[in-house]
Amino acid sequence: MLVLPGLHASQATHGARAYLVEGPMECVLIDTGQPDGTLGVGHLLGQAGRPPHEVRLILLTHAHAGHAGNAAALRRLTGARLAASEETARLLRDPGSMATLGGLPWRRRVAWPPEPIRIDEVLSPGQVLDLAGGVEVLDAPGHAPGSLAFHCYGPNALAVGDAATVSRRHGLLPPPARHCHDPHLARQTAERLAAVDARVVAPGHGWPSVDGRLPARQWSSASG
Ligand SMILES: [Zn+2]
Repeated sequence: MLVLPGLHASQATHGARAYLVEGPMECVLIDTGQPDGTLGVGHLLGQAGRPPHEVRLILLTHAHAGHAGNAAALRRLTGARLAASEETARLLRDPGSMATLGGLPWRRRVAWPPEPIRIDEVLSPGQVLDLAGGVEVLDAPGHAPGSLAFHCYGPNALAVGDAATVSRRHGLLPPPARHCHDPHLARQTAERLAAVDARVVAPGHGWPSVDGRLPARQWSSASG
């Protein structure tokens, strides 16, 4: 799904949505969806018409399985480096450090990650990555330890992971307190992210908003 020139959103990932940010020669992927053997992101790349080897960097907003689920498999597919915060890197190195709900119909808790996932590049808030038009790394604590958001200067899009949700009536909101390891910090983060001057807010779940508006019907058949 083309959100704006230079920004595509996945329609076939399970768990969270993945985003592809395009530069002329290279692409950056943000999040990877729940483990599915790379099918969802493969579909995203196919729709964008970009071959896997053009993905140079895979950015993870946080360590939850719905976001980092295909990280290791996509590194193998694309040859890209995996990048995340120090805390996310620590959690992904440690098998079973987080529990996640398994797929329907059983909805049982399973250990995540099943085996260590090595992060190639540790990111720090304030850093600007010189790829795909420039990507600024923003601290986004509250939902999960080590959460980051990414301001992609090319399409002027803010990818927030689960640090915020986008509401048709109220704009950018903090996630529900029951989904936060620190709800107070999550509220502060959402306020700070709402002040970023971005055309697109690209959440991990739900629909990206463009110029403050959520899309209407043309995207309504897609699944996240
Ligand atoms: Zn999460």
